[in-house]
Amino acid sequence: MTQVAIVGLGLIGGSLGFDLVQRGYTVIGVARRPETAQQALALGAVHQAGTDLALVAAADLVMLCTPINVVVQTATAIVPHLKPQAIITDVASVKGEIVPAIAAVWPRFIGGHPMAGKAEAGLAVAEAGLFQRRPYVLTPTATTPEDVLITLITLVHDLGADLHQCSPEDHDQAVAWISHLPVMVSASLLLACQQESNPAIATLAQSLASSGFRDTSRVGGGVPELGTLMARHNRTAVLKGLAAYKQQLTALETVIQQGDWDILERYLSQAQQTRPQYVDPL
Ligand code: NAP
Repeated sequence: MTQVAIVGLGLIGGSLGFDLVQRGYTVIGVARRPETAQQALALGAVHQAGTDLALVAAADLVMLCTPINVVVQTATAIVPHLKPQAIITDVASVKGEIVPAIAAVWPRFIGGHPMAGKAEAGLAVAEAGLFQRRPYVLTPTATTPEDVLITLITLVHDLGADLHQCSPEDHDQAVAWISHLPVMVSASLLLACQQESNPAIATLAQSLASSGFRDTSRVGGGVPELGTLMARHNRTAVLKGLAAYKQQLTALETVIQQGDWDILERYLSQAQQTRPQYVDPL
């Protein structure tokens, strides 16, 4: 039976723990704070837990589930403790800078990104089945050993997730469009509304906000640290997305200023037809 060590027991690490325990893997948790390790044990997300990185010594597979900015330093810190055949993977939302940096210190590495999340962070909101029927991206490179890729493909199937494979660079541009850009757009929508100078209207708008505003503001109102890390570590791709978005807004502004309603309707029809290419139009 494969022994899996999860380093970072938050939303993603904890959720992986629940699923892997259920599927018969032996799961070792490594947390930063002893309280988190205790909580993970009490919740049944892991079989064994502590704060010492040396706990990964027993693992066949180590899943790095720490925040993006400490993933590479965590990988470097665990290397002296690993079995020679151990595999490392990570779950960070960006891959371009992480994949070559970890592969340089541990060649038996493959980048991963389970694409499921929540507005809140932490072990308390972790849940079993979070990755079920959700995309799980693996980013092998020319130097990724075949058995490493096969082990991770098996794990993704065990989690019930939908496997995707691409290069780290393609991953980062794709997630910039559908995940990182929406966070910036949604945050700027929220702050644009706050520019209403009449307090009575601002209060009225807040009282009238309903399902449409809930949908469009959800990701912008999420954990600020996560959005900052996305932009910081995927800067080029996010800037490309923001430039394209600005272009669309400027075009829309011109059309509305000129009262070109036919053009506006065609624009909105095109948007309506495009949406099903990305998500189920519920
Ligand atoms: P989270 O709930 O905040 O959990 C992060 C965990 O990492 C915490 O339990 C914390 O441990 C630990 N940690 C924090 N700072 C650390 C440090 N400096 N050194 C070592 N450990 C540290 O975050 P998350 O949402 O699970 O995200 C974890 C990873 O998953 C990130 O790389 C993120 O990009 C990726 N991801 C997130 C989502 C999402 O929607 N949230 C989706 C897919 C992938 P303690 O509790 O012990 O302090």
